Amino acid sequence: MNPLYDAIMPVAVRPDIVFTSGSGSWLTDSHGRQYLDFVQGWAVNGLGHCHPAIVSALQQQCATLINPSPAFYNQPMLELASLLTQNSPFDHVFFTNSGAEANEGAIKLARKWGALQREGAYKIITFDNGFHGRTLATMSASGKAGWEQLFEPKVPGFIKVPFNDIEAVKQAIDSQTVAIMLEPVQGEAGVIPAAQSFVEQLRALTHQHNLLLIFDEVQTGMGRLGSLLACQQYGVEPDILTLGKGIGGGVPLAALLAKKTASCFEPGDQGGTYNGNPLCCAAGLAVLKTVLEPGFLPQVIASGDYLTNGLTTLSSRYGLGEVRGRGLLLALNTASIDARQLVAAALEQGLLINAPRPETLRFMPALTVTRHEIDRMLAILDQVIGSCTKP
Ligand SMILES: *Cc1c(COP(=O)(O)O)cnc(C)c1O
Repeated sequence: MNPLYDAIMPVAVRPDIVFTSGSGSWLTDSHGRQYLDFVQGWAVNGLGHCHPAIVSALQQQCATLINPSPAFYNQPMLELASLLTQNSPFDHVFFTNSGAEANEGAIKLARKWGALQREGAYKIITFDNGFHGRTLATMSASGKAGWEQLFEPKVPGFIKVPFNDIEAVKQAIDSQTVAIMLEPVQGEAGVIPAAQSFVEQLRALTHQHNLLLIFDEVQTGMGRLGSLLACQQYGVEPDILTLGKGIGGGVPLAALLAKKTASCFEPGDQGGTYNGNPLCCAAGLAVLKTVLEPGFLPQVIASGDYLTNGLTTLSSRYGLGEVRGRGLLLALNTASIDARQLVAAALEQGLLINAPRPETLRFMPALTVTRHEIDRMLAILDQVIGSCTKP
């Protein structure tokens, strides 16, 4: 083992690999070994590793202006916010450094709105197995199994109900409820899409009770599902939406978006040293411009269909479970095979995939992944599943 590992706080179990470079769907480690990457930093590198548009935007920006302070406007911040509002139903954007921080902002915005508009209503309904981040409030909002006892006491005010269960949501609403917050496709839970009717009913219910609807699109946004935002596929406009992961294409950038009617922060309510810095916003602008190029999003759908077909074939060959998800956020139920064992075996073969649950493999390749790379991934997976099913 590398003695330098000792200085790293052990918050994750990491394999004995040090990555040194990346290009598109491929990573290279310190021994020169190549890996096909179908995780991409957990759906972060939407354009793959070191995409030329991001590299050039960062190079130009870091030679021009890195951070004038969040107390001033800067050009990439202005351009990215305006491009986001032009291409979504939202009016205002606040940039953050992580998805959790964007969700903290969403929670604060909802509470402020409750104080102003709803006599101090503050409770937010969230969902079992949901994932909203690792700050104290976003852990409290999350419904991740195993987190109930961690870092007690939690931030109060989050009411958890089963996902896709509209009756449970109705029952949970009281006079102090201010918002409902969900991932349109639960990612960490194992790629569980919200039903179309559920999302529509949530929108109707929130209108009826004067509640805010908050979409956490940290994982599903920025083209991951084949539309810029998942809410556009559902045909539903939330009041508040958060972006993260894919928006920075690998650099720390996330965003809180709100409609004018919900955008009630006043100067002093929210901020942060690095928020809206030109370096990260320049990367975000390069990503967004690329994703909005004609043909890019249809290609994500086509690649998603191609990968879905391949996974479905594998599933029937080995008697595995369902293939689910949308665009390039897909999962395969591995039935009786331990998905974590498959992940480890795939790594041995130079393939990075992820198992958010013991019976679920998740696929989050670059949105630019090629058919050849999908074929290569399926071939390795075929071999790995084959070797794991042998008696
Ligand atoms: C990853 C994720 C987060 C947290 O984002 P960080 O950048 O890790 O803080 C929040 N919500 C969802 C849905 C996510 O997938």
